[in-house]
Amino acid sequence: MSSITGWAASAAGQPLKLTTFDVGELGAEEVEVAVDYCGICHSDLSMIGNEWGGSRYPFIPGHEVVGRVVALGAQAKGLSIGQRVGIGWTAESCMHCRPCLSGDHNLCAQSVATIGGHHGGFADRLRAHWAWTIPLPEGIDLASAGPLLCGGITVLKPFLAYDIKPTARVGVVGIGGLGHMAVKFAAAWGCEVTAFTSTAAKADEARSFGAHRVVASRDSDAIKTIAGSLDLLLVTVNVAMDWNALLGTLAPKGRMHVVGAVLEPIPVPAFSLIGKQREVSGSPTGSPVDIARMLDFAARHDIRPQVEMFPLAQVNEALQHLADGKARYRIVLQA
Ligand SMILES: [Zn+2]
Ligand SMILES: [Zn+2]
Repeated sequence: MSSITGWAASAAGQPLKLTTFDVGELGAEEVEVAVDYCGICHSDLSMIGNEWGGSRYPFIPGHEVVGRVVALGAQAKGLSIGQRVGIGWTAESCMHCRPCLSGDHNLCAQSVATIGGHHGGFADRLRAHWAWTIPLPEGIDLASAGPLLCGGITVLKPFLAYDIKPTARVGVVGIGGLGHMAVKFAAAWGCEVTAFTSTAAKADEARSFGAHRVVASRDSDAIKTIAGSLDLLLVTVNVAMDWNALLGTLAPKGRMHVVGAVLEPIPVPAFSLIGKQREVSGSPTGSPVDIARMLDFAARHDIRPQVEMFPLAQVNEALQHLADGKARYRIVLQA
């Protein structure tokens, strides 16, 4: 198996075309996975358009893969042929730096993104390091699990990293691909959940995902009515907000945690932090063990991303649907 066939962009912003690539021998620590489902993440769109710089063409997007192991390198550990697995944002890390040896593989300076140094999952097959090829637990819904592997771990990571308690009051800014999963995870975690959305039509749906309260995210006066109340405010949007009003919603020792790729700098006045000992932070995805824990938790609580299915062959239509802001709330391609 030295070639793969996938949907590739030949240059920035080009439509994807079915293309076959020679990928050479499977590396000793690599695993080859046949793709059954692949979610579409907003970062696939950003990378197709080279919005962050550094995209390499021809470029096959896709980093929310659910599939089966079809080939194992000689030194690939812990997996078997035919096993159901998932691959998310990261395809490999160095495994010997301090972050990797400390269990913080997602912070490895040498980590390679699934769509950064590899061909991604909008394809018949893809490859990743064995440690980043995560076994799927029994009971997980395969068709909707893809988005958990990037978006799901991204929104659950702060709960793991900061030991968020079920008694915590949590706000989620933006009810989209990431945010709707954040609401579901926070509710299952046991927290009181406030959803912030600019789309009035999403309010009832946010409640159906588990939100106890919905606040208009573009209404600074409405935001101010819950000033000083939240222990964790998870920012999943990628656009500028009334940051001062949002920081004001934090309780003493509260934390605003950013997982949305907001390209404009976020102003943080010193006094909004000092007086109440607040914190502002961010994080990227999670380690392989974080991802496995997240999947176990999702399976146990039947947390399913709300997805729209498209056949892989309609990937360009699916990408346009996402670009138009019409995805409710995540798109999965079926191979
Ligand atoms: Zn992603
Ligand atoms: Zn490393």
